[in-house]
Parts: sequence; structure tokens; C-alpha cells
Amino acid sequence: MTENQGRTVPTEAYVTELDDRITGSVFTPDDAGYSAAVAGFNLLSQHRPGLVVAASTTADVQAAVAFAAAHDLPVGVMATGHQPFPLADGFLLITTGEMDAVEIDADRSVARVGAGARVSDIVELAQTAGLAPLHGASPTVGAVGFTLGGGLSPFLGRTHGWAADHILSIEVVTPDGVLRRVSAETEPELFWGLRGGRSNFGVVTELEIELFPVTSFYGGGIHYAAGDVEAVLRAFSEVVRNAPDGFTCSVALLNLPPIPEVPELLRGRLVAHVRVVHLGSDEEAEKLIAPFRAIGPAVSDTVGRHPYSEFDAVHADPADPAPYEEHSTALTDLPAEAVDRLVENARLIVGSPVTALEIRHLGGALAKRPSAASPIAARDAVFNVWGVTFGPPEVVDAGITVLREMVERLEPWATGHTITNFAGRDDRAEQVFTAEDLDRLRRLKRQYDPRNLFRVNNHNITPE
Ligand SMILES: Cc1cc2nc3c(=O)[nH]c(=O)nc-3n(C[C@H](O)[C@H](O)[C@H](O)COP(=O)(O)OP(=O)(O)OC[C@H]3O[C@@H](n4cnc5c(N)ncnc54)[C@H](O)[C@@H]3O)c2cc1C
Repeated sequence: MTENQGRTVPTEAYVTELDDRITGSVFTPDDAGYSAAVAGFNLLSQHRPGLVVAASTTADVQAAVAFAAAHDLPVGVMATGHQPFPLADGFLLITTGEMDAVEIDADRSVARVGAGARVSDIVELAQTAGLAPLHGASPTVGAVGFTLGGGLSPFLGRTHGWAADHILSIEVVTPDGVLRRVSAETEPELFWGLRGGRSNFGVVTELEIELFPVTSFYGGGIHYAAGDVEAVLRAFSEVVRNAPDGFTCSVALLNLPPIPEVPELLRGRLVAHVRVVHLGSDEEAEKLIAPFRAIGPAVSDTVGRHPYSEFDAVHADPADPAPYEEHSTALTDLPAEAVDRLVENARLIVGSPVTALEIRHLGGALAKRPSAASPIAARDAVFNVWGVTFGPPEVVDAGITVLREMVERLEPWATGHTITNFAGRDDRAEQVFTAEDLDRLRRLKRQYDPRNLFRVNNHNITPE
């Protein structure tokens, strides 16, 4: 690499050496395809790597990692770029978007998932066999990043637990360039660490994950006008108190800007969006949501029986790339005083640069610790509070300050940890792992990545 006008630029010979070993594409900052290759879902998370390998095969990943190791280059891994991390330059970025194969073994209820597959790819295929993986709210999120980050499913999580606990095996290229098939039987310690440590220990090229039988759900979204927000938050705290594991509920306070891209119903006003998913009967679900129904007429209501393939309509998360920052905290409890603080936040969000603040119910199977539990710090969390601010950098800078204040207001009930998948750009390994797990992860890091080559675009676990 050489320095040119403050940018780290690889020499031609260097690029040729790498290019010769890769069947996918290699980009440098001067190439026409570079901007598209580094672009992720979050438009504020554009790293400036010196080299990009858009891998199309496992052999590409091995060659790229071996090249980085030989040249002592830091490595970052990106699938879709949904999660923000500190920005970096001059490193080697491996993108996995092209490795998006998914195979379903219906007899075993198992999916083999390529590194670049998105949540929607698996759900779509698994549904042909009446099955579904543990997945999140958004269909565009990368399945491997989601699952290795713990994987909190607002559909199946309270029934079956964390997605990371349902990985059967992992194919990974470790920082020494070796391709390993890792499971609880073959390499239990690395298997444990990858299911939370993600790209700290290499590039995962394939996951084998469990699938669960489900073909429909009773649920959807209910929008309530600003005047009902306090009643909605109070009803939420009542509804979740009696919820069976098959019932999941969250409330998002939406403060969307008055722009044409936003549906008129939600444009430029505060709205409470209740999200409900029930895996039992319609009647049982209606009984459970009675406190919401008692509030009075809603602005819109899609709650009903839906085919499982329509899961993405429940949260209705944005499908197009956008600039945003996020911040969150996990809570152990939601007493009346915490609800008061949420109500206060609902007042403060109006006219602020914060776009949404969501409180999600956890618990159920998410609170259990299976015998081969992965390093998830938030098993004691009963709620997750997550906020997001969309817009250009100056708006987002102001938004993240307000968001932090809102989250701090809930500090008395905070677990002290952040759920890995909901961590913001400034969260570090100390926030997403318990101290005990982090010690153990560091020992693993010393074994598999003693030079800490894999230190970009992750919650870096330093070997020291
Ligand atoms: C709208 C929206 C809704 C969401 N809803 C949920 C939800 O309901 N539940 C939930 O748990 N999360 C949710 N998330 C968070 C999401 O799961 C995380 O942002 C997750 O990290 C995204 O993974 P990715 O691979 O798409 O993103 P990336 O930013 O590409 O990757 C995220 C991390 O995973 C690592 N990684 C990716 N691929 C590999 C690989 N092959 N090998 C090793 N490491 C890899 C990356 O290095 C990075 O550290 C949501 C996010 C958004 C934006």
C-alpha cells in the first residue's frame, strides 16, 4: 500500500497479485465499481478500504484472507452493511453478497445458508416446506450477521430462543486462511465464540441452522394517533404481563418526517405503532390485545391471520438504503415509573431529529440458557429499547444526542448490556459481552487471531 493525497492506495503489483487468485471481483478506490462495492444499507457507514474483494466462492474468501495475512492487512467483513461500526480506511474489505445460496433440508428441518443470504431468501424457501428460521423484523438484513449477532426474532424468539443458539454448524475461514467446519462436537470453543463474536474469528462462509414449523400467524400492526400514545404505552405494559411465549409485542413511537416517501398517514406526526405476532389461536390473540382495543379507534389496523410469508408487513421496516444511526439499551423490568419515562420520551420526540423509539418485549425462551449457550449478554433482559435517527450527518448527530438522553432516562432498569445486533456505532465489545464471556473470547482471539487482523467492522475483541 502507498499513501496518495492522504488516501491509502494499493500498488498495481499488489492488486494484480490478489486479482489473480480471486474469481469474484477486486476493487481499489480508483475503480469504477468501488463505490457500489463498499456501499451498505446504512449510507452513513461507508468505509474507505484500500482493497475490496467481492467474494463469489469460499476459495475467494480463503485467498483474500491468506493475502491479508501475508501482507499484515486488517480485514473487515460485510454482508449487507445494516449495522454501523467505527469508520475505517486502508484495510481489506471482504463482501459476501454474491455468496447467497440457500438450501433447505425439509426432512431434518435444517437450512444451509450462504454468507450473503438475506433473511427474506431463507423465509421464502423455507416456507415452501412450511418452515421458518429464527429471523428479525427486516427481510433485507443479512441472515449470517443477524444469526451470529445473537439474532432476536420478534416472531419466533419468545417460543424458541436466540437464533445463535440454534446454529448446528459453521463453515468458517479463520485468519490463518484455513477453512474449518466447526460444531459443538468438532471445535466447541470456536463454535461458542463465533456465535456472538462474528467476524472477530474469521469469515463465515456457511451456516447450518434449525428451522421451525409455522405457516401463518395472527398479528400485524396498529397505528394510534398522538393523543393515544400514553394509553398505548400503558396498555403495552399490561399486555406483556400476561403474555404466553407464543405472543410477542412491541410499540414503536414513530416521528417520521413530512416527506412524500412517507405514507400520508404517518407523515410529519407522532404515531404509536403496536406490533403484534401470535402463534396461537385468533381468539386467544384478541383476548391478549384487549387493552389496546379498549383505547378506541386506531388510525390503521392490519391485525388478523396472515400467511407467514407476510412477516415483513408487521414492523414495516424501511427496505431501501438510508443514512441512520441507532442506540439502544436492554431493560430488566418495566414498572409504572419506567412507563412514565417512556411517556416523557414520547413528548420529547415530537419535533426532535429522532425518527423512531421502539420498546420490544423479550423474555420467554429468550431468557433461557441452553446447555451450549452462545455468548449473549442480554439473556436477563425482559425488554429492549432501541431508537434510530435518519438523515444527513448533521441531523443524525443531533438525533443521536437526543436519543442517548431518552435511553439514559431508562437507566435505572438497564441490564448494563446492549444486544449485539442493536448496538450502535460507539458500542464496544465491553457493552455487548459480559466480562466473563469477554475474557473467554479474548483467549480465543489470542488463539485464532493473535495479530488482531480481523479488527474492522465488528465489536472488536482485542487479544490482550
Ligand atoms: C431495519 C432493521 C431491523 C432490524 N431488526 C432486527 C431484529 O428484529 N432482530 C435482530 O436481532 N436484529 C435486527 N436488526 C439488526 C441486524 O440484525 C444487525 O444489524 C445485523 O448485524 C445485520 O447483519 P448484516 O450482515 O445484514 O449486516 P453487516 O453490517 O454487513 O454485518 C454486521 C456484522 O456481522 C458481521 N458479518 C456479516 N457477515 C459475516 C460473515 N459471513 N462472517 C463473519 N462475520 C460476518 C460483520 O462483520 C459485522 O460485524 C435490524 C436492523 C435494521 C436496520
